Amino acid sequence: MVEVDGDSNLKSIIQHIVLKNAFEHDGKPRVDVVISRLIAVKPEMRSKIKEIIPVIKKIVEEISYMTLIEKKKLFENLFPLFEKEKEKEDTKKTVHFPPLVNAKIGLVVTRFPPEPNGYPHIGHAKAVIIDEEYAKMYNGKLILRFDDTNPTNEKLEYYKAILDGLEWLNIKPDLIKNTSDDIEIIYKYGKELVLKKNAYVCICVQNKIKENRFLQQECDCRVNQDNYPERIDHFFDGNFNENQAVVRFKGDMKSQNTSMRDPTLFRIINHTHPLLGDKYNIWPTYDLAAPIEDSLDGVTHAMRTKEYELRNELYFEILDKLSLRKPEMIEFSRLEFEGLPVSKRKIKPLIENDIITRWDDPRLPTLIGLKRRGFTAEAVRKFILSLGITLAETKPSFEILESFNRKIVDSDSIRLFFVKNPCKLFINNNEAEKILLKNHPNNDSLGSREIHVNNIFYIADDDFNKIKKGDEIRLMELYNIKIDKIDDKEKILTAFMTDREIRRDIPKIQWVSDGGCVDYSILVPDILFKNEKFNEDSLVTLTGFCESHINLLEPDDRIQFVRMGFCRVDDASTAIMTHK
Ligand code: ATP
Ligand code: MG
Repeated sequence: MVEVDGDSNLKSIIQHIVLKNAFEHDGKPRVDVVISRLIAVKPEMRSKIKEIIPVIKKIVEEISYMTLIEKKKLFENLFPLFEKEKEKEDTKKTVHFPPLVNAKIGLVVTRFPPEPNGYPHIGHAKAVIIDEEYAKMYNGKLILRFDDTNPTNEKLEYYKAILDGLEWLNIKPDLIKNTSDDIEIIYKYGKELVLKKNAYVCICVQNKIKENRFLQQECDCRVNQDNYPERIDHFFDGNFNENQAVVRFKGDMKSQNTSMRDPTLFRIINHTHPLLGDKYNIWPTYDLAAPIEDSLDGVTHAMRTKEYELRNELYFEILDKLSLRKPEMIEFSRLEFEGLPVSKRKIKPLIENDIITRWDDPRLPTLIGLKRRGFTAEAVRKFILSLGITLAETKPSFEILESFNRKIVDSDSIRLFFVKNPCKLFINNNEAEKILLKNHPNNDSLGSREIHVNNIFYIADDDFNKIKKGDEIRLMELYNIKIDKIDDKEKILTAFMTDREIRRDIPKIQWVSDGGCVDYSILVPDILFKNEKFNEDSLVTLTGFCESHINLLEPDDRIQFVRMGFCRVDDASTAIMTHK
């Protein structure tokens, strides 16, 4: 038995969850919801869940007997303690995953089935995080299955990219496999469908098939299937050429659901497969492979995006005809952002047409693009969890992702000054001095830096343009100056130092000192499409001077350029703007 009575903290957490659930459901808490919420707050309880369930049931029963006033009182007493737990595991607030139907603790199997035909993006992160969260919630298993049955588009590079993406997200599947591993098994089931007359070999040309689908007409290959028994072996022995024949499911050509109008189950593709080489040229479609694989892999809850909705009927009918076990199917909405292509189908042409040269371009919502831009995997996960699992096709704002990330990177980003398009500033009356600046206002572990200042400084042109003769300005972290002369043509300012007192009423600007700065660039990514048109300004390079302390930083280090935003160091002379 778990030490729950001994662990008053754990007991209180369970009570708190039970009460909250009771308030949400007319005073009647649900044990399954409490279990999943407890695991979300205290993932370490997952391994002890069997022992904890009786405890939860007992607490649920106790609380069910309380009056509303008693419940409220207990809830208030527990609140401060629960808040502390929440700080530790603040996923609690963000998990909006309803319980799964027909799910048993320890027996849930989910799977993430990407096609290795491109680099994974934040939409895939959504899918795999949902799969993983549900597997964790029920102490179940997650399968990563490469859906690799279309060799034309697939490459080893992409299998690796998907594995790397999952590793970055800190997702460790319990099993990794390929649909292509099971090609012979899929052939066996495919042939079974044909022999049982639930499918047939069709030799109509593509256009004819299309036209018949549109006209809701059955073709001779279907109607007179019995007249062409030799076609079956001819097909499966690989004697047809590409586009000469396909195997089609015998659906319903009159169905309102177009996916049921005799969809293709196998086609011939003469292309080297990244894992199997040239051994096979008959390839199952997703429609056939997915249900067979899900069923044989023991998947209990198959989740996919809503655009596959029309294919559900086919999925279940194939399993029905093959007398295979049927998983539950759960749908969720595709993740999309305004102006960003969250789809390989849209990203690939950008790469292939050299509009964007790298998959890790910081404008792309690929996982490597987000990483290179400076997003953390933790922020991606928190963002996805905050969306929950819904069917609503709303486009969340990219700023939500940014705000999750900001909270994470704020404490370990070194504050530095960068001046864009530098303009010279002379001070007439100051002395050379050394100053020590903290690298972070409240994280002392980031240390400090020494800056030598003399009488020549640089400031950003944006600041220069706003300054007028006689203005008083504070050079941040240094002292106040009064502008004496402005040379607009040469972009040079001359000023006097006045005093060191911090005053709220004068503008503050960042600066770098002559001799203490280096040439530096910041890449600023923006959305790729504006009103459906490619945004020519989607990647702007800001050039200027940065404090020479930047030379001590390494790629991946994080900076907050004061008054500009958070950046990730990309190479010796460039940072990428993550967000403001
Ligand atoms: P793409 O348009 O990127 O090619 P896809 O659905 O063809 O998308 P797959 O590799 O087949 O990509 O997808 C693997 C899984 O990821 C599927 O379950 C799919 O539903 C899910 N997925 C893909 N894109 C998104 C997205 N934008 N939002 C949520 N889930 C997604
Ligand atoms: Mg796909």
